[in-house]
Amino acid sequence: MCHNISMSTFHQIESPNLMVDGTITVLLKSGKHFTYRLSTVRKGDLEGKRIAALLTGPDNNASYKGFGFIISPEEGITDPVIKVWRKYLQSEAFMKHAQLLEGCANEHVQEWMQEGRCMKCGRKLTTPESLKAGVGPVCAGRK
Ligand SMILES: [Zn+2]
Repeated sequence: MCHNISMSTFHQIESPNLMVDGTITVLLKSGKHFTYRLSTVRKGDLEGKRIAALLTGPDNNASYKGFGFIISPEEGITDPVIKVWRKYLQSEAFMKHAQLLEGCANEHVQEWMQEGRCMKCGRKLTTPESLKAGVGPVCAGRK
C-alpha cells in the first residue's frame, strides 16, 4: 500500500521533535516508510494528554491508530518518550515505532520529515529550525 505524501509541507529534519503536534514521516533504509501523527487530546478524560498514532489506512486524515502517550521530559529525563499502551506492549511492531520516534533506532533511518504547528499560536511551522524550537519566529520573538 502506498500513501501519497505531499512533500511540499514537510521539512527534512535530523530527528523528530515529539513536543510538537503534527505529522512525521520516516523513510527507512529498507525502503519502507511510515507516517505518524502526534496530537493533543482536547476534551474528555484524557484532556491534555498527547498521543502518538500510526497511519494504517489509505485516508491521510482519518486512518490513524493511536498506540501510545507522548510523555514530556521531566526532571532527569532530557527527551520525550513514548509510553506504548498496555494492549500493544506485546506488539513488536508498535514497540519498534516507539523506538523509532524516540530516536533509538536511527541506524535504520534514511530520512525524517516533519510537519508541525507552533506550540503557542498553532500556525504551521515553515522551517526545520522552527520545528526544532517548536515555535515559529514570531512567537520565538525573533521577528
Ligand atoms: Zn506561533
